Amino acid sequence: MENKKYNTIVRCDFDGGLQMPKICVSCGAVAGEKRHEFIASNNLGTSKTRIKFPVCDACYEADRNYVHAAPVTIVGTIAFILSVFSLFNKPEKYPSGLFLIGGIIWLSVIVAYVIWTNIHAHRLNSQEVISRHNELKNALKVKRFIPFHRHIVGQITLAFSNAQFAKAFKKLNKGTFIK
Ligand SMILES: [Zn+2]
Repeated sequence: MENKKYNTIVRCDFDGGLQMPKICVSCGAVAGEKRHEFIASNNLGTSKTRIKFPVCDACYEADRNYVHAAPVTIVGTIAFILSVFSLFNKPEKYPSGLFLIGGIIWLSVIVAYVIWTNIHAHRLNSQEVISRHNELKNALKVKRFIPFHRHIVGQITLAFSNAQFAKAFKKLNKGTFIK
């Protein structure tokens, strides 16, 4: 799974349905029923559609098992700072001792949760999971999407990282390669 520097771009008509090759959109391995959803939206963002692309079992599992530690760490840090700040702005009606103990327990919970999430992520996110997760994220980019209307066929332009998938997809959907 070497990193591809360029994408293969395919444009084809879009009437809501697309034919899918039976290979993984990311790594090109044989794909069964598993799908990964990508969202296409037009320039104005007024029209959106979800398109499901086939993925192999390994890429599907890697994406499902990937633990997102970064958002937890960021939210945890913000919560920690806000909590410390509010500790110094104790409302008058609370007794100081109790308020301080409660605050320390609360801060410990935040710290423990952030540390636990990071350890958990480190353990589960093996090198293979990380690389498959990242490759799947970059497997496809919607370059252009023109929604279809009742009498007007839409159009979709997709950039694929996997040239093999792009070629098969182009053939199935009577598309053209775009430079
Ligand atoms: Zn795959």
